[in-house]
Amino acid sequence: MPVLNQISTIWGIGRNYRDHANELGNPVPAAPIVFIKPAASICWSGQTLNLPFELGVIHHEVELAIQIDQELKICAATVALDLTARDLQHQLKTQGLPWTAAKAFKNSCGLGPLRPLKDKVQLQDLEISLAVNGQVKQQGKASDMIFDPDTLIDYLRHFFPLSPGDLILTGTPAGVGPLKSGDTVSAEIKNWVKAQWTVK
Ligand code: ZN
Repeated sequence: MPVLNQISTIWGIGRNYRDHANELGNPVPAAPIVFIKPAASICWSGQTLNLPFELGVIHHEVELAIQIDQELKICAATVALDLTARDLQHQLKTQGLPWTAAKAFKNSCGLGPLRPLKDKVQLQDLEISLAVNGQVKQQGKASDMIFDPDTLIDYLRHFFPLSPGDLILTGTPAGVGPLKSGDTVSAEIKNWVKAQWTVK
């Protein structure tokens, strides 16, 4: 199950952990909430995370990212940052407008190194976390997702044109918060993947 180099679309899933839906005062969804980020918005670990603060407050959301293969099965995984212009998103939501401007800006998708799934990796056992300047802000277990990765793939493939190599960002646990210039952001999948960025 190799890592694929071609990433066509990054599929984002909103409110997939109860504690995060609660912290933003949102109801727990009955079906996955889907948005997309451009593949060109990827900022790989180690690259400078140049963020458009002119959009307002930008929040970190640490997420388990999975990659799908030719059979639309999970072939690889990593840790991702679903960076979100939170004030702007709130305005757009209030006005009933799409979230695109708040989710798809340049460098809005931080991505750790993609790792091929080995047989012994059980997705539901994975734990993700994020620290800002060494302080842990978010921790979550894949087993706490409302819609697990296989359910997300089944749902997405029914309605959307999934392509081999696409990524799915599976939602964030509680603890989202603002980033500022000069911050060091570290994210990991426990005992497996590490990623780090400096915010500019
Ligand atoms: Zn997210």
